Amino acid sequence: MKLGGFDRLAQASRTMRVNLLDFDRDGLIRHCSDLGEKPFRATQLFRWIHQRGVVDFSNMTDLAQSLRSKLSASAHVHALPVISQHDSADGTIKWLFDVGDGNAVESVFIPEDDRGTLCVSSQAGCAVGCRFCSTGHQGFSRNLSTAEILAQLWHAEHFLRRRQGSDERVISNVVMMGMGEPLQNYHALVPALRTMLDDHGYGISRRRLTVSTSGVVPMIDRLAQDCPVALAVSLHAPTDELRDTLVPINRKYPLAELMQACLRYLDAAPRDFITFEYCMLDGVNDQPSHAQGLIDLMRHGAGRGVSAKFNLIPFNPFPASGLRRSDARQVQAFAQCLQDQGFVTTVRKTRGDDIDAACGQLAGDVKDRTDVSKRMTRAPIIITPSTPSHHDH
Ligand code: SAH
Ligand code: SF4
Repeated sequence: MKLGGFDRLAQASRTMRVNLLDFDRDGLIRHCSDLGEKPFRATQLFRWIHQRGVVDFSNMTDLAQSLRSKLSASAHVHALPVISQHDSADGTIKWLFDVGDGNAVESVFIPEDDRGTLCVSSQAGCAVGCRFCSTGHQGFSRNLSTAEILAQLWHAEHFLRRRQGSDERVISNVVMMGMGEPLQNYHALVPALRTMLDDHGYGISRRRLTVSTSGVVPMIDRLAQDCPVALAVSLHAPTDELRDTLVPINRKYPLAELMQACLRYLDAAPRDFITFEYCMLDGVNDQPSHAQGLIDLMRHGAGRGVSAKFNLIPFNPFPASGLRRSDARQVQAFAQCLQDQGFVTTVRKTRGDDIDAACGQLAGDVKDRTDVSKRMTRAPIIITPSTPSHHDH
């Protein structure tokens, strides 16, 4: 379609409008103050957007008409287009969102009896390049904006509320464990986390909001100061020699430094613990000697003991990895070693593997990426598998 001069102007002014999903509440207060509005107006606006899922200013009935007009001229609430939604037989839902230029990111909702968890992406691709991770194999495209991070939660929460037919909160936990390394996108991450925590936003408690990192040491320290949420560290190996080959960022921030950073993080949040994630790779890192190595690392690696829990993740294979999943007995034996030494250890259940929604399988549908714009013209695809998924629990 060819645009006339006026249309082009109108389109340019639309693209210049600020996206209000880019602001935490303090940011919105500053923005509203520039428009000559009081802080409590910003809080009302924030609640309309995040708690009620309203994007159209004309429906925000308790805001003065003058403010609504000012907002319509200068701002919008722009969520992410959904390319597809896949529903797993076990209730897990995976969304693929379009972030432009042929890039897509994924979010996964995992319902459990006592909670609803959303796994959120922080980047399109990832620059860390871990050997066992399909996002890592895809390479790095770009950082997501605060709005693009929050839009995943905004969409999921309000979709799920509509589906259940009530305004009750559905998502109680958020884990930054989708695509990307959140601590390599720090500036966009922090306002998104603050909005998730905000009682006028999503009201998620500090211990139910987890940032997972491959170990970006300086940013672990900054997070402790700026927004001390729950921290998960992707460890995967007890020695530098092995970790260098699995998680390349280890060459920059080796284990001794990483463990020291964990101690400092706990000093800022003393009643907490660090969750160490450990992807179980057959014959690579799953032997009893590796478990013993982990125990030593926790006790002595940082000079004093680190308050730790372990989360073992059976490797989710993808074709290009050349790696295999440890068998269930091996995983159990490994877990028992850690447990016998007093470390609380869980084995992560694989959820949604019938829709490729398990850890490390999120690759934004690489095969189809060039086709994203074409697929955008179709309605979202909803796939409900007729066969039950094959869980390993
Ligand atoms: N970049 C961050 C967060 C995203 S990855 C990080 O690395 O921590 C979330 C978790 O999934 C990490 O613990 C990661 O190591 C794990 N993971 C990645 N690929 C996996 C795979 N193929 N199988 C199982 N777990 C995987
Ligand atoms: Fe990046 Fe995390 Fe995947 Fe490593 S495991 S490549 S840090 S997303």
